[in-house]
Amino acid sequence: MLTDYHLHLRADDPDATPANSFTPANAERYRAAAGERGIAELGVSEHIYRFTQALELWRHPLWQEFARDDIDQYCAFVREQTDLRLGVEADFIPGGEERIATLLGARDFDYVVGSVHFLRDGALDMDAYSVWDSGRSVEDIWRRYFETVGESARSGLFDIISHPDLVKYWGPSHPQGRRPDGDLRRYYEVAVEGIAESGVAVELSTAGLRKPAGEMYPAPAFLQMCVEADVPVALSSDAHRAEDVGADYDRALELLAQLGVEQLSVFERRVRRLEPLGAGEKSELAT
Ligand SMILES: [Zn+2]
Ligand SMILES: [Zn+2]
Repeated sequence: MLTDYHLHLRADDPDATPANSFTPANAERYRAAAGERGIAELGVSEHIYRFTQALELWRHPLWQEFARDDIDQYCAFVREQTDLRLGVEADFIPGGEERIATLLGARDFDYVVGSVHFLRDGALDMDAYSVWDSGRSVEDIWRRYFETVGESARSGLFDIISHPDLVKYWGPSHPQGRRPDGDLRRYYEVAVEGIAESGVAVELSTAGLRKPAGEMYPAPAFLQMCVEADVPVALSSDAHRAEDVGADYDRALELLAQLGVEQLSVFERRVRRLEPLGAGEKSELAT
């Protein structure tokens, strides 16, 4: 089968609200787009910082600005009004492990996608609160980023480590250069070690192709290191709109084939199993 587990029903559009995002009709749009691409297994993983309960974990100004929705209403909607798996995309906040565990443990998610979007208060993939303006060197940011990804895996809080080289977001052509020179595997090692030793799945995400990075997350060399360490793979698009569900999966499947990956991770109530990889029958294109 094919999966797309990292989906956001809530668009980035400022007019989006829970009332117009968390509707059966919107979920059906994602389901229909997936059907056209032969993707049978779908789940949503809304950003935790959209929920007021996230302010119990962290009070970053960005979170205070966006925390408006109720996480239990979201969970109830997905369970009761859709046929999608219930996930959430949760940030790893060093030092906040117990609070994160409490928040996650109180809900019956099928899986939790763990993300590192910040180093301390500095954002990796946004101009606002940018870590790149902190005066730290590119090498220091990269080293600290991958250490944090490794720690996020070892925390045991997550089922899938998402976009595990998000630090490359700005792309090699960024005028300030935000990528170290040479073979980047020296940075990846510490993250891959944490992922492999903790038994979580690693995400292959096509989202990076739609960002300045211009390549999938993670880079092929990173994924190869994971595969060699027997880390299971979860496949996702990180779509924030129905049109992007399963985007560029042909490229993802090509990479997985090159690396000899023949199974994908599937989750139910936080239990993982592996299913043979392959597209299902594609539904007719909607007219
Ligand atoms: Zn993310
Ligand atoms: Zn996401």
